[in-house]
Amino acid sequence: MLEMSTAYIAPQSSGGAAPARCAWTLAEFAAAAGISRPCARGLYREFLLNSPLADMPAITRMDQGAGGIKFCMEAGHSGAVALETESVIVAMQSFHGHRWYTLCLSSQVGCRMGCTFCQTARMGLRRNLTAAEIVVQLMAARAILRGRVPMSGQSEASGADIRNLVFMGMGEPLDNFDAVVQAIRVFTDPNGFNMPMSRITVSTVGRIDGLKKLAALNWPHLRLAISLNAADDDLRSRLMPVNKAMPLAELRQALLEYPLPRRGRFLIEYVLIKDVNDSPQDAVKIAQWCRSLPVTVNVIAYNPQQPAPFATPGEDEMIAFVGQLRNLGIFAKRRVSHARELMGACGQLGNPNLRRASAAPA
Ligand code: SF4
Repeated sequence: MLEMSTAYIAPQSSGGAAPARCAWTLAEFAAAAGISRPCARGLYREFLLNSPLADMPAITRMDQGAGGIKFCMEAGHSGAVALETESVIVAMQSFHGHRWYTLCLSSQVGCRMGCTFCQTARMGLRRNLTAAEIVVQLMAARAILRGRVPMSGQSEASGADIRNLVFMGMGEPLDNFDAVVQAIRVFTDPNGFNMPMSRITVSTVGRIDGLKKLAALNWPHLRLAISLNAADDDLRSRLMPVNKAMPLAELRQALLEYPLPRRGRFLIEYVLIKDVNDSPQDAVKIAQWCRSLPVTVNVIAYNPQQPAPFATPGEDEMIAFVGQLRNLGIFAKRRVSHARELMGACGQLGNPNLRRASAAPA
């Protein structure tokens, strides 16, 4: 039974990776975990929560900064270049000083959506992650926070736990729909991590086909974030090529039809880019597009990149834009960029070697 359970989430060993232990017998895993009277359900939970690091793909890079910890795990090869997942443990703090951690998950290595403000797009899509490779990011993050992974310097996060999961790392989650849905099933399984659906956010560019499939699952408490970035079709198509096939009016209609729970809200993400989408007219267009949709608009400053095709707005410009939205009756917040110094903030993920390889002439 345990073999079946662990196979359900076991990380797949891919080309070039050290082989991971994918199928324990019940007796072997019970002995390794020090459990004298094993039952399959208890061992499954033990495997998920405290699995030995040797069972996971190797952590290839890890950087710690004030905003959190970014870590990469091996995910096979593309030609001569090693592929990695990228995940960010973000340290959060409430106004009253309460602290918790949010894990930003990748659903793909690279991405094919081509958003012009995002470094990941420059890698292209290297491959979809499996459900196991998504789940193992949480297993590794928990191991890091419990001090089971050697780090240079003291982890400020030691002993704490992860409260929220956000699919905002590399990739478009609805472009890898089945694996993401399967990973969410594992995260919320009461026999395992037992995470509430309401603490999981799927962030999408607005894939209408994916939104319809998600709606059909009837998971009303799953949180949905829509990356908007412009409420004008011409500008949005320039920033986000997906808008050419799925324009704003159709996206809005899909959201109107989405089965939100009573008092539920969509998160609308708006990356503010200096002199591109930050004018008072842009704020008016957002307010018009959001009319009669239950939304919270999160305004995020464009994060510096290497190289950066756009400019980052200053503090005053951020405050002014959020103020304009509020004056137009929109519930708007300024979202602080975390892990920017680690190149782990919104739009900054992606292996530089793969970006260079993608840019090189064939
Ligand atoms: S912003 Fe998201 S969807 Fe767009 S290219 Fe980057 S990773 Fe892909």
